[in-house]
Amino acid sequence: KSKGKKMAKAATKEQKLSAVLGAGIMGGGIAYQSAVKGTPVIMKDINREALDLGLKEAAKILGKGMQKGKVDATKMATTLNAITPTLDYNTLKDADLVIEAVVENPKVKASVLKETEQTVADDAIICSNTSTISIDTLAQSLDKPERFCGMHFFNPVHRMPLVEIIRGEKTSDDTINAVVAATLKMGKTPIVVNDCPGFLVNRVLFPYFAGFSKLVLDGADFAQVDKVMEKIFGWPMGPAYLLDVVGMDTANHASDVMAEGFPERMSKLTNDPVTLMYNDERYGQKNGKGFYEYG
Ligand code: NAD
Repeated sequence: KSKGKKMAKAATKEQKLSAVLGAGIMGGGIAYQSAVKGTPVIMKDINREALDLGLKEAAKILGKGMQKGKVDATKMATTLNAITPTLDYNTLKDADLVIEAVVENPKVKASVLKETEQTVADDAIICSNTSTISIDTLAQSLDKPERFCGMHFFNPVHRMPLVEIIRGEKTSDDTINAVVAATLKMGKTPIVVNDCPGFLVNRVLFPYFAGFSKLVLDGADFAQVDKVMEKIFGWPMGPAYLLDVVGMDTANHASDVMAEGFPERMSKLTNDPVTLMYNDERYGQKNGKGFYEYG
């Protein structure tokens, strides 16, 4: 009985201070989401300009909310005040949940996670927002892998409801419970999944993108495919537009990972339009040109 009580207490331990490592598209979005739902957050980067951009993005989302009458001046001020930008690791020492969202590079992530573990308290939880790197591989850089799991948000963070919580081989139940609670507090819907290439969403999405690429290689017009999927089939956006949102750099890398992980289901296509566009620096909405052009 007392064991049950203890577990319940551990599971409901509330996050008081979060930290996000990396103030890019995802880190900035995660910091905003934490702040707007009432958990103060430290936003750490190695680059002052990235911190400024992260804060600017949060202010932009709040500004749009104000225009729609959903956010008032007080909410805007308290949310922005709840985000503390920093270049200094030491400020992480009081955080109870740290979400790593630095560049998708296993070596950089491993060193960032190691340094984080040396800074935070023994019972702090550490997560990674990686899209493609195995959670078990990243866990090897930590002394206490039981306090580590994946926490995979989707872009744009403030609009996408889902968060995939990825359980590594050594992740403890207490860690999963605490991250589920933190996700709910951020106003998001968690699902707990095992560690595998693509987790759940990208495992479904990338074979779909590969099917679309093959159709284009067979002569289909990408804009017509989008029109069919959107206007007639009824999805909110077609595959070409969605690839522009995801970004050709991200999509190209993720499709390599998926093709390697599931060769029987998805092989890398020769002349895949996604790869050709990536090589041509057509990254999608992030640089204004992909399948479509953005002004
Ligand atoms: P980004 O390039 O926009 O931002 C990365 C940030 O990390 C940059 O500001 C960079 O200065 C910072 N950084 C680099 N090294 C650092 C370090 N040592 N310490 C602190 N900050 C450091 O990248 P992003 O698109 O936000 O992606 C971040 C992570 O989120 C990646 O793992 C990516 O796979 C994942 N992800 C991205 C998306 C997406 O659609 N962009 C979706 C889900 C998950």
